[in-house]
Amino acid sequence: MDDRQRLRYSRHLLLNEFGEEAQERLLASHALVIGAGGLGSAALMYLASSGVGRITVCDGDRVDLTNLQRQIVHRVDSVGEPKAKSAAATLASLNPEIRVEPLEERASPERLLALVRAADVVLDCSDNFATRHALNRACVVSRKPLVSGAGIRFDGQIAVFDLRRDEAPCYHCLFAEDAQAQEERCATMGVFAPLVGIVGTFQAMEAIKLLTGVGETLAGRLMLFDALASRWHEVRLARDPNCRVCGAHRAAA
Ligand SMILES: [Zn+2]
Repeated sequence: MDDRQRLRYSRHLLLNEFGEEAQERLLASHALVIGAGGLGSAALMYLASSGVGRITVCDGDRVDLTNLQRQIVHRVDSVGEPKAKSAAATLASLNPEIRVEPLEERASPERLLALVRAADVVLDCSDNFATRHALNRACVVSRKPLVSGAGIRFDGQIAVFDLRRDEAPCYHCLFAEDAQAQEERCATMGVFAPLVGIVGTFQAMEAIKLLTGVGETLAGRLMLFDALASRWHEVRLARDPNCRVCGAHRAAA
């Protein structure tokens, strides 16, 4: 770190639990963020400001006026622009010392696997189950930590699947793909603006802890947040030995 970086990150360096070593680790890290919507907005801004050295942001959508109520990485000037490009521009203005790679695409499962392999931590900020499951599969195969977030109406949830560990449950252990999951997309549902900021910020926090080894992560737990009542609820997660995704892979490994 040079003097300017020591200044920029001084409030991290002042933390006994963090310090220069963790900051160096962060600067040398690569985070993959899938989705530059409400969750991605908050997560991306904290990852960038904290000094994650390399961030890949992938989103195939364009900024719409209805996004601006909660997707704070985008600006009025960006309406009509690809979200990945708009997010990268904001992050560059926030912290020009890091490298941000915008991918203006909705990644296929094969593409996701290649992107996950190149990253140190993965943040699922997507809004659909097909992407969530494809991303989980890629993380299981590549043994990369996955920070999953979701927020709809007034309800949020966050989970960490630290797939570097043998005993870790995966997203599929929790939400089976063939379960009759009612797809609730933000495109048609109401979303309380600060809710996605809280969840996305929590995701950034867990990603930073995973990358630096600082503190204890949320691995093995699911946090549920009720924004209407301002209540958190915690659920312990266990690995499903019959899980088609992590069970079969682990048995074969
Ligand atoms: Zn599983």
